[in-house]
Amino acid sequence: MQAVETKGLIFDIQGHSIHDGPGTRTLVFLSGCPLRCEWCSNPEGLFLRQRLMFKSRFCRSCPTRCLGACPQGAVEPSQSGLPVILDRRHCDSCKTMDCVNVCYAGALQTSGDWYTVDELMRVLNRDRYYWGSEGGVTLTGGEPLLQEGFVLDLLERCHDAYVDTCVETSAYVPRSMLQAVLPYIQWLFVDIKHMDSAKHLEGTGVPNEPILDNIRWIASNDWPGRMVLRMPVVPAFNDDVANAEATACFLAEIGQREINLLPFHRLGASKYEQLGMTYKYQDQASPDHDSLESLASIYAERGIACHLGAETPF
Ligand code: SF4
Ligand code: SF4
Repeated sequence: MQAVETKGLIFDIQGHSIHDGPGTRTLVFLSGCPLRCEWCSNPEGLFLRQRLMFKSRFCRSCPTRCLGACPQGAVEPSQSGLPVILDRRHCDSCKTMDCVNVCYAGALQTSGDWYTVDELMRVLNRDRYYWGSEGGVTLTGGEPLLQEGFVLDLLERCHDAYVDTCVETSAYVPRSMLQAVLPYIQWLFVDIKHMDSAKHLEGTGVPNEPILDNIRWIASNDWPGRMVLRMPVVPAFNDDVANAEATACFLAEIGQREINLLPFHRLGASKYEQLGMTYKYQDQASPDHDSLESLASIYAERGIACHLGAETPF
């Protein structure tokens, strides 16, 4: 009997990145995440299943091919003719997504595609000509370590092909997964969202203790790679002095001497609409440069290098 090859659900592949690891890199965004950060800029990557995305600006009301293709009766033409109306209660559990195949305008799309490791390696091999001597592949998401079998196969293949690999994780994953992954990677970005576990639970849906325990474990491990901690700076959630001080103390305690602050942005807002989801941060402005500098000074006072935005030196 032929073995069935593991597939991974991937919601984006971006080449030519210079911010998520050294050199020029290809970013692979893996679907599925155990957290539900209210400010998330990649809502299409939250689920480990394909979801329907409706880009209404592309809809031609063509006349409504999707209406005929949908076995669930989830599509209605709107009175104005443009665009169609979807009943999301059906779409969220739809297994076939037949509407996507008939929409020539690209208004209906799936939130991700399934790849075998071979298929993904073909894409990566295409990109490796511009990585240079320092670049490589960064796995991000979603939570890339959620799709365990696929990710381990992929990292092993990259390792065998001398590809420099970096993983960006929430660290809200089993320790055994981190143990399995570390021998194959050179870089690890780990997000810290809040030092207060109750606040962390409020903003992300999970407590922070397993994350902090995993970070402590990585910091004390003899893994030869480099871990960079990152904090998304989210106004009125974690941009206060007390949280910065607590984070700086934690970093000092585990011997980490750098942090990367990433200012909140709303670039993912339109994707919430396309997925039929509400976005709590729809009207929230990004933190200004002065407030980021003032947070950075709290880290600097404790001897911790603070890189703002995309400034991390590699
Ligand atoms: S098939 Fe596409 S373009 Fe045509 S009505 Fe449906 S969503 Fe609009
Ligand atoms: S995702 Fe499924 S239920 Fe929703 S419109 Fe498409 S075919 Fe119908």
